[in-house]
Amino acid sequence: MTHATQPILPAFAAIEGRPITLGVLGGGQLGMMFVHAAQAMGYRTVVLDPDANSPAGLVSHHHVLAAFDDAQALASMGRLCDAVTTEFENVPAATLEALAQDIPVSPPAAAVAIAQDRVQEKAHFEASAASSGVGPAPHAVLLDEADVARVSAQGEALFPAILKTARMGYDGKGQVSVANAAALAAAWAELHRVPCVLEKRLDLQAEISVIVARGHDGTCVNLPVQLNTHVDGILARTEVFEGNIDHALGQRAVQAAQAIANDLAYVGVLCVEFFVVQTPKGLDLVVNEMAPRPHNSGHYSMQACDVSQFELQVRTMTALPLVQPRLHSASVMLNLLGDVWSNTGELRTPAWDDVLALPGIGLHLYGKLEARKGRKMGHITITAPTIAQARDTAEQVQAILGLWH
Ligand code: ADP
Ligand code: MG
Repeated sequence: MTHATQPILPAFAAIEGRPITLGVLGGGQLGMMFVHAAQAMGYRTVVLDPDANSPAGLVSHHHVLAAFDDAQALASMGRLCDAVTTEFENVPAATLEALAQDIPVSPPAAAVAIAQDRVQEKAHFEASAASSGVGPAPHAVLLDEADVARVSAQGEALFPAILKTARMGYDGKGQVSVANAAALAAAWAELHRVPCVLEKRLDLQAEISVIVARGHDGTCVNLPVQLNTHVDGILARTEVFEGNIDHALGQRAVQAAQAIANDLAYVGVLCVEFFVVQTPKGLDLVVNEMAPRPHNSGHYSMQACDVSQFELQVRTMTALPLVQPRLHSASVMLNLLGDVWSNTGELRTPAWDDVLALPGIGLHLYGKLEARKGRKMGHITITAPTIAQARDTAEQVQAILGLWH
């Protein structure tokens, strides 16, 4: 990181009569919710995204309409912004490095580079297992034909398995199931023989995630542990309430996420996903992957916590104080995929009025014009005094929308 000591950038302290402006790389819904949080705190915003209709670009004060590696656009970002963050983990590390020459960039390019490559990510998890106390699933790295032949010849210990592309995978994309060693070569061919990680398929008791925010001075705070349900490799539902996971296990996950962030010299919001697995000694944790940004599983924090994950992103990049967020309501977050618009067989607007007639509904729609299957269109957070009440309302929302998870 070029800027070792980041100046505090409160929105109300204009520099030379110019408002303080925060930039975000990527114009998706995470960028949009970041922009909303930054604007609520009085900042001006700039979004860099090549799509003229990107959700964040449409709500930001400025939208630099260009590719992430466009040198002129990066120069404009450097001129316009006082600090820059990212909402898109596949932004080229070189882009973050170039921007860091001019302005504070968080998270650091090196951390993003690790998070965007499963091979490096697994290596980081193994290296920090000593401090985090939690390691990754048994796996093998497949870079070439020779690796595939070697791993196929090693027997069935890693199988049944999941083969995942090292780069650009998300929402279960870039993954195929591999039943046994004999099926490996064909599975790798299906993924076009790109670098991959072969991972043993574990019997998951639960999936959890932890969002930490780490400041320039090393201060680390976290959101409460999220209990997640995935359907077809995509997050469908997150439940957060006191007691959603065994207390000691949750504490271990928080400590592991903090250790992983510390070992990356991380600045910003980091989400770490864990698997909960059964072992002869009881429940244990396996670290799955990390996202160098706010995460879908943290959306509930906008309604259920006193500080949201997007405000944490603003605070980390501006070097404002980090205070441990507090969960004040039990919550259920339901993702709204494009399927909700067509699950009756025809394309129709879901009955939002019926949903909004229920108590404790936080409806978020990202303004995307085309409701494609599997596309994240929005989410609903249901808050209530007890998880039983939140679940009861969630069931009614599911019935109205035809959501069956
Ligand atoms: P993505 O980048 O698409 O989120 P993940 O590695 O998190 O990729 O995989 C998506 C989902 O697939 C996980 O949340 C989990 O439900 C399932 N999954 C992934 N790896 C394993 C595994 N080794 N064993 C069992 N289930 C897995
Ligand atoms: Mg994942």
